[in-house]
Amino acid sequence: MKIDSKGNILVGSVAILIISLLIIAIFIITSINYLENENIELKSNNNFKYIIDDYSRNLEVLGRDAIADATQKVYNGLPVFNSENQIKKNLNKKLEEKNKEFENKYGVRISSEVLSVENSGSPWKILFKVKLKVKKDNINYSNIIEKNASIEGLRDPLPLAKLTIASGILTYDNKIHYKNAIAGYMVIHHFKSPESYIEATAPLYITKCPYDPYIHHGDPGVLDDCLKKGYFHESADGSCYLCRLEGKGKCPHYGFEVFIQTHTPIKNESLSCSDHVVFADHYNGEKIDPNDWDSLILDSSHRKKYGLVKENGQ
Ligand SMILES: [Zn+2]
Ligand SMILES: [Zn+2]
Repeated sequence: MKIDSKGNILVGSVAILIISLLIIAIFIITSINYLENENIELKSNNNFKYIIDDYSRNLEVLGRDAIADATQKVYNGLPVFNSENQIKKNLNKKLEEKNKEFENKYGVRISSEVLSVENSGSPWKILFKVKLKVKKDNINYSNIIEKNASIEGLRDPLPLAKLTIASGILTYDNKIHYKNAIAGYMVIHHFKSPESYIEATAPLYITKCPYDPYIHHGDPGVLDDCLKKGYFHESADGSCYLCRLEGKGKCPHYGFEVFIQTHTPIKNESLSCSDHVVFADHYNGEKIDPNDWDSLILDSSHRKKYGLVKENGQ
């Protein structure tokens, strides 16, 4: 067989045309497929997104309730050995009920599992991670949602977790009234001047001090107002809320501290009144104003932190 040059060109052109058409066809088919798939995902994702957002908002409230339940356990006189597990357990129970509510509300199947309860970057907030599985119309969606819950406004669990309910601590007028609890603890541990801490008080509810930076506590009227309102302060040495539930006076996490205020005419050196010092670090301080019954007993490094060092170095 002999094909002339004209025939060769014709066959070549037809072949190129067919290949081009094939490529275009493949491209169009893939594009259509891709767009359709994307549409389906987008549509269902939007539905799920709404449900997940609603669930996240609920998680913030329920997470805080789960912490408050652990605090209540401490106030009932029961120990919390592992606060993370205790709060996980409390929250899983609450989420089970919430899941049923969501199933009725959105016509979906929901299952959830609390993965972790941990410190966030701020000592005033606890971070929750929850794995959520949602099923609707044979489409499964699973996501890990994260939410911070504030501990502000909750009761400080440390005094009761540390000294126990049998120590005689009372709570009223938004305050912890230590009565003889700290004095008794100091006698047992042979600390100086336990009698200074008879009838000492501290704030009951966690409230973040607005006088930031703290050096402003040396400005006129600031310390008085801070004590009157009962504020808590960020502190690397103070224990975090999760460790407070377990009765730990200090911990490796970034936490907070509160002043335990004494009310006494005694002028002796005694434990410095930051709560991590009274319950864990155990070093002494002296009254800022020896003639004031309500004066704080404070060591020099805390005086510096709060701007309470006088000009003449006292
Ligand atoms: Zn303050
Ligand atoms: Zn801690």
